[in-house]
Amino acid sequence: MSKQLVAGIDIGGTNSVFGLVDRKGNCIAKGSIPTAQLKTAESLVKEISRAIKGFSEGYEVLGAGIGAPSANYHNGSIEHAANLQWKGIVPLARMFQRMMKIPVVLTNDANAGALGEMIFGGAKNMKDFIFITLGTGLGSGIVVDGRVVYGHDGFAGEIGHTCAIPGGRACGCGRKGCLETYVSATGIKRTINEWIEAGKTTSLAKFPAKDISAERIYNEALNGDQVAREAFEFTGEILGRVLADSVAYTSPEAIFLFGGLANAGDLIFKPTIEHFEANLLRLYQGKVKILQSGLFENNAAILGAAALIWDELEKRKQHN
Ligand SMILES: [Zn+2]
Repeated sequence: MSKQLVAGIDIGGTNSVFGLVDRKGNCIAKGSIPTAQLKTAESLVKEISRAIKGFSEGYEVLGAGIGAPSANYHNGSIEHAANLQWKGIVPLARMFQRMMKIPVVLTNDANAGALGEMIFGGAKNMKDFIFITLGTGLGSGIVVDGRVVYGHDGFAGEIGHTCAIPGGRACGCGRKGCLETYVSATGIKRTINEWIEAGKTTSLAKFPAKDISAERIYNEALNGDQVAREAFEFTGEILGRVLADSVAYTSPEAIFLFGGLANAGDLIFKPTIEHFEANLLRLYQGKVKILQSGLFENNAAILGAAALIWDELEKRKQHN
């Protein structure tokens, strides 16, 4: 009998990555395609399906999981994705299913990340946790009783667009003060740029605003730049405070932080945990861990999408 694998596909605004993954989370083969160069969703589906077929020889591929922005698990469609060039509603799961002739499920990238954490990462023995991804924006996946919470329309878990500071920074969603305008790679850059404009003295002031990346802020903080350190402090304070509120909804065992900013170690974890504990309702205090993700950054997007389909296939088996 040939080895059983699934395909994990992550659709991104710039690149789409995909691979074959076994039940233990080993990525057997992987590839990538520049999403933006393909004019239509059809051509992307075709290219990726063909590449996966090429990897599949000698294996049994049981299904495919897809992580994508603005993706709806319920209907398998991407809906009005802001950073993809395809407009409107794209029934991506059905398109892949037709091409690959295997079960296909779709969810947004943060939900896929949460499932990756549960199946392959640090949440292996947990049933209730929150997964936060800190990239260009802030994505989140909420798991309750071993299942991702989708909500009635499929879009539950947008902690990045809960209000952190009423009337605060303008957000891409059209509202003001959203968490992700402060807590994300973009958010910490905005913080530093605002502070430089306000006249704070920092070694970062010598760079043009557009060249100040989260990584550069991190490096300057390590070099002892006080303002860079304060920017992490400020970011962690806001994150900790909002996470303390989100605990009230689902009482998670842990909250996992994934992505660029989460790699800043104590610089981000210390203020986050401090302000998290300080703002928690007393009955939750000392009971909720804030942890770094156990997913390896390299293959995390593929693993998340693969976890989605492994989880789906196992649920379907239990039902039958
Ligand atoms: Zn927003």
